[in-house]
Amino acid sequence: MHRSRILASLLLLALAAPASAQVTAIRAGRVVDPDGGTAAENQVILIEQGKITAIGGNVTIPAGATVIDLSTSTISPGLVDAHTHLCMAVVPGRDAGSYYYTTLRDPDAFRAIEGVVNARTMLQAGFTSVRDIGNEGNYACVQVRRAIQLGLIVGPTLITAGRIIAPYGGQFHLQPDKPGLAEPEYYFADTRDEMLKAVRENIHYGATVIKIVVDDQRYIYSVEDIEYIKAQAGAAGLKLAAHAWTEPGAHNAAAAGVASIEHGFDMTDADLQLAKKNGVALVGTEFLANDDTTAYHRQWVDRLRRAYKAGVLLVYGTDAIDFKPGITRGQDAITGIDPWVEAGVPAPAILRAMTTNGTRLLGVDDVRGTLRVGQYADLIATPDNPLTNIQTLKQVSFVMKNGKVVER
Ligand SMILES: [Zn+2]
Repeated sequence: MHRSRILASLLLLALAAPASAQVTAIRAGRVVDPDGGTAAENQVILIEQGKITAIGGNVTIPAGATVIDLSTSTISPGLVDAHTHLCMAVVPGRDAGSYYYTTLRDPDAFRAIEGVVNARTMLQAGFTSVRDIGNEGNYACVQVRRAIQLGLIVGPTLITAGRIIAPYGGQFHLQPDKPGLAEPEYYFADTRDEMLKAVRENIHYGATVIKIVVDDQRYIYSVEDIEYIKAQAGAAGLKLAAHAWTEPGAHNAAAAGVASIEHGFDMTDADLQLAKKNGVALVGTEFLANDDTTAYHRQWVDRLRRAYKAGVLLVYGTDAIDFKPGITRGQDAITGIDPWVEAGVPAPAILRAMTTNGTRLLGVDDVRGTLRVGQYADLIATPDNPLTNIQTLKQVSFVMKNGKVVER
């Protein structure tokens, strides 16, 4: 046979043979649609090259497909944590409860290793998409994301903020003789030129979302400051996340129409309405209420209750940063459900905040977040239906990302 014909035959074989073998079929007892708030019984999901190619009640499983039997489980889209810090762990006893000390004591090389481990355990807990919202040293999390994308390690789809842009000092208090204490965690930007440079430098080094701290000093970003940063980020296709702890800070962020307000702990009802009007999502990090035994606990829960009533777009975000012996970051992050339950948010709304609202905020919803044809197969299995029993998300028994089963 002529050499080119041999090659052509081999090529045809290579193209034809594995096609049917590469199909994965999931028999699902139930499949949840968070947006519709509905669930369909006895479904089959076909997956090829990482994406869903068919889903429904009368889908035929092709011969040679790898069949995964989840017929006694409920399948939901993979979860989202929109506010995490993978490359950081506050060590009790060592860090006096403050991540300020953590950033001074742990070099980036160690923090990247923490990022690798935390990324894996987040995925194992069911979080298939995660937004790392900064405090990653000198872009440690960007490198974790790169390693995930290259397949060197397993982890969620990662959106990373790089260095947090903030008025002078960031979230730390400097000393005049040691002005570098908050770097590289924070990128100080007070003038328009500095803001522009901070946004561009972040994007250049791999940030895929821009994070600002509006109000951790007595001087805070104005509405115009935030609008300017938002425009510069937006011009390069990046969204703006705004840390706003105080009432004036949250007001400015809501007025400027950022993509998301982080924390919004002190938001008034009027500013919740303003956020709603301007399409601003609230990533309320109510997880913080879990470890808070003071009066703040009630305030966190109350703000969540008010935000839900106001109809603000709610997105699940934990802000989990503590090192807890015997508990993985993923196991910790899922306990953020509890304050939502305490606030009386109905299970379907919590599930939306943890899935479709999250993938939309992260900007990955065109390919992830719902279980329909054409989307990546990012999904979890639980023993019960989260639309009626949200606590079942603490018992995730199976995770798939990009059509690949995650080892647990
Ligand atoms: Zn945070």
